[in-house]
Amino acid sequence: MSSKIISELRALVGKSHVVDHATDMAPHLVDWRKRHRGDAICIVSPQSTGQVAAVLSYCRANRVRVFPQGGNTSVCGGSVPAVDGVNIILSLGKMNRILDVNPRNNAMTVEAGCILADIQAAASAVDRLFPLSLGAEGSCQIGGNIATNAGGTNVVRFGNTRDLILGIEVALPDGRIWNGLRTLRKNNSGYDLKNLFIGAEGTLGVVTAATLKLFPKPHSVATAMLGLSTVEAAVDEGLRLQGVFPGELVGLELISRSEFEISLRHGTNMRNPFGNDTPQWMVLVELASPERGDGLTERLNEVLGAAYERGAFEDVVIAATEQQRHELWRIRHNVTEANGREGMGLTHDIAVPTYLIPTFIERAGVALGKQYPQATPVIVGHMGDGNLHYIAMFTHAYWATVTDKAEFQRALSHVLYDISAELGGTFSAEHGIGSLHVDEMRIYKDAVEVALMKQIKCLFDPDNMMNPGRVLPA
Ligand SMILES: Cc1cc2nc3c(=O)[nH]c(=O)nc-3n(C[C@H](O)[C@H](O)[C@H](O)COP(=O)(O)OP(=O)(O)OC[C@H]3O[C@@H](n4cnc5c(N)ncnc54)[C@H](O)[C@@H]3O)c2cc1C
Repeated sequence: MSSKIISELRALVGKSHVVDHATDMAPHLVDWRKRHRGDAICIVSPQSTGQVAAVLSYCRANRVRVFPQGGNTSVCGGSVPAVDGVNIILSLGKMNRILDVNPRNNAMTVEAGCILADIQAAASAVDRLFPLSLGAEGSCQIGGNIATNAGGTNVVRFGNTRDLILGIEVALPDGRIWNGLRTLRKNNSGYDLKNLFIGAEGTLGVVTAATLKLFPKPHSVATAMLGLSTVEAAVDEGLRLQGVFPGELVGLELISRSEFEISLRHGTNMRNPFGNDTPQWMVLVELASPERGDGLTERLNEVLGAAYERGAFEDVVIAATEQQRHELWRIRHNVTEANGREGMGLTHDIAVPTYLIPTFIERAGVALGKQYPQATPVIVGHMGDGNLHYIAMFTHAYWATVTDKAEFQRALSHVLYDISAELGGTFSAEHGIGSLHVDEMRIYKDAVEVALMKQIKCLFDPDNMMNPGRVLPA
């Protein structure tokens, strides 16, 4: 049965674009953090939208389940297939052409398999900025970013992926192609289908191409890291800076001392900008402007100098060179890898209204301390968006003693999600649902909302062939 499907898929996309050898398939069957594993009969890598549509049409007719895969950097089990059923991985990696760059229209059209860093570089080459930026940008693909409505470090100024997309092209589960590759800034002509596919995590169709918004390239950048003794002070100062530098503040990241030390401990050639006196909380601030010689660093210096005199924070490091800026950001970008080396980190991607961040951290700390005293709270987040990655870190030795790991994780996570819900927050701010949070959809989302989502799913994919078991509870 499998060999018949594989040879028929080869007839559609070419022999060398369907792989079924265990060694070639292995990296696609496990996620980036090696926490989720799945199974598939083969990996299909189409080279055109027409081929994607043909594969989807074939799979629907033959009841083969399709799991689209981009850069496989999902951190919620979204990118690997299920373990059961007749599955294929549909890899977009070979559809990686930049189709058009139009600086006069501040727009760029790309295939879905383009790596995010390549898109940023292509924009930069024409003196423009594509502002989506995240730690996985060297591997993740724009199709995956669109499917997950990825966030990252520039959301405070430019919004999520959704805000950066002008148009998309989608291959539908029934084999039709919707070409919505428009470059318009306004288009009130009926339902906004584009936004239905953005964030749908490949459950409604396969994004095959997209038209992206470009912005003026920054020519002045100013970066500082503040050291503070309380998270209240960190949030107060962050909110104040947003008001002082509207339009220029592009990054506002919060890092707890525990996270900061883990990042330094597991990084190579990294040094502590605060010497041996690490504050309890760090806030990484970045301003950017398209103007050259804008005096941005001087203005930031002045504003932070006055705040320091007032006692708004304990310490501050302002990057004097690009190298120093790079070193400050490296501490932030290294956290995911460093956490993996440190121990078993149970990560939570919550968001609450920004001013309630201290309340969440206080309540979560108390609850964990009581119920999970072995956990160290490790916190890093996109503070300007109210988004915290709250990690309950356990030593490998302790984690080895936990018998029912899935149940342990579920129970701990729900302690934190309950607190987030009480504060009007969410259990998934930017990473999506994947296979990991399907249960939370049932528990924390409004029942009417989930029912409507199921109706939409049924309209596009009545046989549940696209990414089954992801996003929506059964
Ligand atoms: C070090 C690190 C840092 C990260 N930082 C951030 C961060 O700051 N912000 C953030 O939001 N995320 C972050 N992530 C998570 C991850 O990088 C994002 O979710 C990213 O958008 C996934 O892109 P991908 O190409 O790797 O998609 P994959 O992981 O391959 O897939 C993710 C989901 O999208 C679907 N999909 C992929 N391509 C398509 C397509 N063309 N059409 C339809 N569906 C598709 C898949 O089926 C899956 O459901 C980080 C991950 C790592 C490893």
